[in-house]
Amino acid sequence: MSDIIRTDVVIIGAGPVGLFAVFELGLYDLKCHLIDILDRPGGQCAELYPEKPIYDIPAWPEISGQALVDRLMEQIKPFSPQFHFNRMVTRLERQADGGFHVETDEGEIFEAKVVVIAAGGGSFQPKRPPVPGIEAYEGTSVFYSVRRMEAFRDQDVMIVGGGDSALDWALNLQHVAKSLTLVHRRAEFRAAPDSVKKMFELVDSGGISFELGQVTGLKGENGELSAVTLKGPDGEKELPATRMLPFFGLTMKLGPVAEWGLNLHENLIAVDTEKFETSEPGIFAIGDINWYPGKLKLILSGFHEAALMTQAAKRIVSPGERVVFQYTTSSTSLQKKLGVQ
Ligand code: FAD
Repeated sequence: MSDIIRTDVVIIGAGPVGLFAVFELGLYDLKCHLIDILDRPGGQCAELYPEKPIYDIPAWPEISGQALVDRLMEQIKPFSPQFHFNRMVTRLERQADGGFHVETDEGEIFEAKVVVIAAGGGSFQPKRPPVPGIEAYEGTSVFYSVRRMEAFRDQDVMIVGGGDSALDWALNLQHVAKSLTLVHRRAEFRAAPDSVKKMFELVDSGGISFELGQVTGLKGENGELSAVTLKGPDGEKELPATRMLPFFGLTMKLGPVAEWGLNLHENLIAVDTEKFETSEPGIFAIGDINWYPGKLKLILSGFHEAALMTQAAKRIVSPGERVVFQYTTSSTSLQKKLGVQ
């Protein structure tokens, strides 16, 4: 078992609302660890609409999904939050002392006095490509994310897809793989133009092979992949591959949140509107994952919920300490914490 990671607050989900919660909690000296299934911060903003403009963030007449995430990351920097990406929180259990153990699918255990669920629409789960028998290879040769690059060292790696994840990993894994083939059904890509340019440069210099087509079959034994059948413009062919990474996008499912014994309202976590606490004292839910009468799934609602949640969280982490409300404009103590004094 891994060492227990102790902290004041564990935030499940590093979407915009989880990120802003770090700021509010930080003003009250509460230290946070954030856990997210994705490989980067930003939740829906970064994953579903990074380049789309948002028009209803207060004081930002227009800001893209990714720019909002970048600004939030900058704003919370003074509080040094610890991020744990590529991990799904699978268990949440109250301990005898009233605190909580939060467990991930990577086997880490976090011990916290307060848990904030900012899990948005639930867990993003990879879309499985329609290849017969692919399940038999999942987790041994076929992966939907890269947790450790070393797992791909000296392998014949095939990456399937045309978005940012496919291109980013093609560029990164070509350094460690024995061979790397990128497969996409079209010659046009949805990824950042710079990544596409770099990828074609590597194709020209022989670092990466690019194949136009679709995967139609897998060959191997006992979950160990040896070759992949591709159907392209010139018909079918077989290519060697010992690892395959399909990047076909993500869907959102409530996931393990449903199993944590919290009162739910139509697949959302029911909370009060004073503290945004769930049916379990010490476990709060903010952002798109919660429900209360009149709830609007807007980023600004989540920001407000984070501020009120913090008042209650502080009372749990520091019992007996007076919770003093202060403005950042006039409080020198808050300004010191923000590093502007
Ligand atoms: P999310 O952004 O969903 O983030 C939740 C995070 O939790 C995810 O990263 C997920 O991976 C993680 N997670 C979930 N379960 C687990 C688990 N078990 N373990 C670990 N991690 C977990 N809102 C506006 O206010 N204005 C707009 O103009 C606007 N436009 C939108 C346009 C589109 C196309 C979409 C899809 C949404 C839009 N929204 C808009 C809604 C807005 O994006 C959401 O309200 C916001 O993202 C909610 O933030 P959140 O942090 O609560 O959740």
